[in-house]
Amino acid sequence: MSVVGIDFGNLSSKIAVARNRGIDVICNEVSNRATPSLVSFGPKKRYLGEAAKTQEISNFKNTVGSLKRLAGRTFQDKEIQEIEKEYINAELVNEKGQLGVKVQYLGEDRVFTGTQLITMYFTKLREIASVELKIPVSDVVISVPGWFTDVQRRSILDAAEISGLNCLRLMNDTTASALGYGITKTDLPEDKPRNVVFVDIGHSGYSVAVVSFIKGQLTIKSTAYDRHFGGRDFDQVLVNHFAEVFKEKYKIDIKSNSKALFRLRTAVEKLKKVLSANSQAPINVESIMNDVDVSAIMSRQEFEELSEHLISRVESPLIQALQESGLKMEEIHSVEVIGGSTRIPALKERISKFFGKELNFTLNQDEAVSRGCALQCAVLSPVFKVREFSVQDVTHYPIKIKWENIPEIPDEESELVVFPKNNSIPSTKILTFHRKQPFDIEAHYAEPDKIPAGINSWIGRFSIKEVVPTDSGDLSIIKVKARLNVHGVLSVESAHVVEEVIKEEKEEPPKQEKQEKQEKQEKQEEQPKSDEPVPMETDNKPEGQQTQPKPQSPATKKVKKLVKKNDLPLVSGVGSLDKTIIAQLKEIEGQMIATDKLVADTETQKNALEEYVYDMRGKLDATYQEFVNPADKDTFINLLNDTENWLYDEGEDATKSTYMEKLDGLKKYGNPIVERYREAEERPRAEKSLRDNI
Ligand code: ATP
Ligand code: MG
Repeated sequence: MSVVGIDFGNLSSKIAVARNRGIDVICNEVSNRATPSLVSFGPKKRYLGEAAKTQEISNFKNTVGSLKRLAGRTFQDKEIQEIEKEYINAELVNEKGQLGVKVQYLGEDRVFTGTQLITMYFTKLREIASVELKIPVSDVVISVPGWFTDVQRRSILDAAEISGLNCLRLMNDTTASALGYGITKTDLPEDKPRNVVFVDIGHSGYSVAVVSFIKGQLTIKSTAYDRHFGGRDFDQVLVNHFAEVFKEKYKIDIKSNSKALFRLRTAVEKLKKVLSANSQAPINVESIMNDVDVSAIMSRQEFEELSEHLISRVESPLIQALQESGLKMEEIHSVEVIGGSTRIPALKERISKFFGKELNFTLNQDEAVSRGCALQCAVLSPVFKVREFSVQDVTHYPIKIKWENIPEIPDEESELVVFPKNNSIPSTKILTFHRKQPFDIEAHYAEPDKIPAGINSWIGRFSIKEVVPTDSGDLSIIKVKARLNVHGVLSVESAHVVEEVIKEEKEEPPKQEKQEKQEKQEKQEEQPKSDEPVPMETDNKPEGQQTQPKPQSPATKKVKKLVKKNDLPLVSGVGSLDKTIIAQLKEIEGQMIATDKLVADTETQKNALEEYVYDMRGKLDATYQEFVNPADKDTFINLLNDTENWLYDEGEDATKSTYMEKLDGLKKYGNPIVERYREAEERPRAEKSLRDNI
């Protein structure tokens, strides 16, 4: 069984695996520890990860990046139209309300949704991990930004499922880093918590978490984000700057040409990185457009001046996170920074200045998130032994449940915040309703202006069916179990009817206490990490209140108890894909995998044929010369030459089986020669060993 952690980054993703009692970040097929988060489409196959990067510029319009930013989005989404569009080369379209990306694939126009594109990318990551581990990979933990909403999380989960990954947990990325920190620190305090701030600035997003550690446990105290703050924003500042400079200097309008813009973007990213370690750096792009070469020099100071408006934004999430944690500055033990963009000196300075502390780099800046995910996967996996470490994460957005009122209860509330901000996850809450007919409840984000612009605040609708009056015609008492699960995804898990029954109980306090204790225990077992249930009383009688009838005899008393009667059918409408759609998409993905594989196999066969031609022709004049008569040799060489010509001509693009047949045809001539050569080679050795044995 695999134990794998994936840091699904906007620019690139990292995969960590647990093995040999340690966590390793693994390399992809070209030995890189980070795989570009890109998918690309060609006339014959897809290009995923590194392969997509290699031909990004030549296959510009059919290459899609910013994949995680597409999760759970609609076409009209403000953030897609105003921000992401800028970073995506391919055409964005409206696919039945969903965000679609239009590309040319296998010679025709195809539209894929964000979930499908992420699926394709996950397929590649799965393959990279499987090749490395030499077993099929299924169990994984995948990172997401803590600000991801329900529908975004569900999109990632759907993509994981379609690509054959079993996601044991979607982990908020700063939480993953915190776990990596906590599990390796052997000096964590027993009682008085150590408070550490984690700051992650990546390519597109910026996350802060205040985390308190004690031995064997971490608790997220608060989180804060700037959802649109990362390396690409700095790149954009430089792009704008140089577009102006080059317009003046070379009279070219880079922004009018998407490929030129892309070339400039690549060049400024390089410049920006060099400026992190040097006070000055050059930028050169050959033939950026209209055959014009451009070059310029920039100093770090100039870069910092140009991006001052960005640099000054770094403080706000820090202030917010600290404030919400309820901690004072002096209670912060240390500040750990991760993410590629925390290498920008000006950002480091501001963060350090804010806390009045030197920053810590205990964790590998690029790999901390993937390592944390792999550790979490190891903790959750039954096959791996790892030190127990409990992770108490929280939800970033408050969630409320809404329902329709009924005439029988005129003063009933119609909504309730069930999971407030910073509610721990996972968490289960029980809601109590009094109804005599089927009813629906809806879950919404309670503060729609806090969630990403364009994402619907609606989370799901849950219909509780087959609700009937009690035998006496009254309202039935219905208990509904809502759960914010380990992925930070909301579900309504079950609904059941309870009935008030009057029970006679002996007044034996010790026994009753014992029973209550037992009941409590059962409840806890049922809801492992639950908070206190939220009773929503509609009849002014607190849940479970026991009336105290006068004792009939000194030894017994009558008590009202709530007893579970029967489960109710439940229909959920949530942001996940329907099971039948998942099955269809699995099929489509499977076909694409098969197409890619066929193309790869065909390529392998073609290479094998080509190699055979060159190898054999060379050896016929050397090693094999004595083992073939001249006439046969001429025929064979002619055949090899014909094959070579064919390969450059009509055989350039043949089928796998044609290449195989051609190779078999050649081997009919070649094999006997090789055979004779081998025998001759073996004979002296065999004779020698015979002599030695006599
Ligand atoms: P996200 O976390 O937003 O999803 P990601 O995880 O892919 O994105 P990282 O790998 O953490 O992002 O960081 C990539 C960013 O860091 C890029 O913008 C890159 O240019 C920037 N970066 C990397 N090295 C340096 C450096 N030495 N100086 C400045 N920026 C750098
Ligand atoms: Mg990242």
